[in-house]
Amino acid sequence: MGRVIVIGCGGVATVAIHKCCQHPEVFTDLCIASRTIDKCDALKDKLKDKTKTRITTKKIDANNLTELIHLFDEFKPDLVMNLGMPYQNLNIMDACLICKCHYLDTAAYEPENVDDPVWRQRYEERIKEKNFTAYFDYSYQWEYKQKFESAGLIALLGCGFDPGVTQAYVAYAKKHEFDRIDTLDILDCNGGDHGYPFATNFNPEINLREVSSEADYYENGKWIRVPAMSIKKEYVFDGVGKKDMYLLHHEEIESISTIYPEIKRIRFYMTFGQSYITHMNCFQNVGLLSTTPIMYEGREITPIQFLKALLPDPASLGPRTKGKTNIGCIFTGVKDGKEKKYYIYNVCDHEEAYKETGLQAISYTTGVPAMCGAMMILNKIWTKPGANTLEEYDPDPFIEALDKYGLPKSESHDPVMVD
Ligand code: NDP
Repeated sequence: MGRVIVIGCGGVATVAIHKCCQHPEVFTDLCIASRTIDKCDALKDKLKDKTKTRITTKKIDANNLTELIHLFDEFKPDLVMNLGMPYQNLNIMDACLICKCHYLDTAAYEPENVDDPVWRQRYEERIKEKNFTAYFDYSYQWEYKQKFESAGLIALLGCGFDPGVTQAYVAYAKKHEFDRIDTLDILDCNGGDHGYPFATNFNPEINLREVSSEADYYENGKWIRVPAMSIKKEYVFDGVGKKDMYLLHHEEIESISTIYPEIKRIRFYMTFGQSYITHMNCFQNVGLLSTTPIMYEGREITPIQFLKALLPDPASLGPRTKGKTNIGCIFTGVKDGKEKKYYIYNVCDHEEAYKETGLQAISYTTGVPAMCGAMMILNKIWTKPGANTLEEYDPDPFIEALDKYGLPKSESHDPVMVD
């Protein structure tokens, strides 16, 4: 028996909720709690005759700790899945500790306003110490490690595809394929076409902040910084074909390099079309990506939030998106004294994802791992307490669950390498 609260009711949450409802023996009671209650009620209505999971809904502002505690006290969840925004991660983790329940999210904490002076000071110190400039990092959530450990609770951090499955792939490669991993390239390819000149496949604020930021990679114990979108490569992806991909910072590089210091170089690449890049540069040049509020006709607005309101809702892209995603990890390293290469990845079809859940494959590839991670916790397959990323758990049962529930792995022992 598992009682779960899902916070958020956007693309990722909708997929995860669909998938949880396919396993009512694990997810017996589910509360969908989000800012816009109508979306929660509409999803409940859609699912109620198709599942034995008992669904309730609740309007909540996850910025409000008192509201969170009240809801958790009332519902008594075993697990809270935070599938809303990463701005509220710390608040929700606090509420979980107070109410003694497990926690799971899909993105590392970042602040809503990056000009907040208290956050800014610590950010500047981190740049001096570690030399990476992303707005998000794990330090804030790793500070909860001890607290969750002492409480005997799990906070499973970043349980989507990337971060998430990519770290399980690293743990899997280390367990089954390598005595030592030397290099890792994480490749995230979206070969889908939604037909709009510009739309993001997940929350526009988080997506645009990530992509427009300075890029970097990790080599020989150091972060190497490069300008945004300045390193471009071409790669032929199984199921998709040839695509341009760009080097980006991504949060799992931080955890993988911490947990596997043997890996000499870690890079992350994501594919983008020219239209996406042209639009993003234009938004940036005119200030629309700013997180600093401005006054407009007597009221305060935040430019990037205004832009989000103009763009298509990622959750609405499902019926329009055709094509496939391909996300995975390519390794080099050594097994039994011999050098070897290994590629593990998943190919997901946008139209298949839509048929099953009403959402496109980016939401699907995030929501399915979130459900599988929740299953690992509720079924007590993963029991190590603390605020941990996925490298810290046995990858086999998780990858087996992904194989069964919609995101099967493919493997190659002779992949084309990224030069
Ligand atoms: P959406 O914008 O579609 O959904 C966000 C949801 O959060 C909305 O329902 C929104 O409510 C709700 N929300 C926002 N603020 C609050 C608040 N203060 N209190 C309560 N609810 C709130 O985003 P996605 O579903 O695309 O993404 C969800 C998360 O998944 C993001 O953190 C994103 O970064 C992450 N992600 C992770 C990936 C991975 O592979 N690890 C890949 C893709 C996404 P409302 O309906 O009112 O707007």
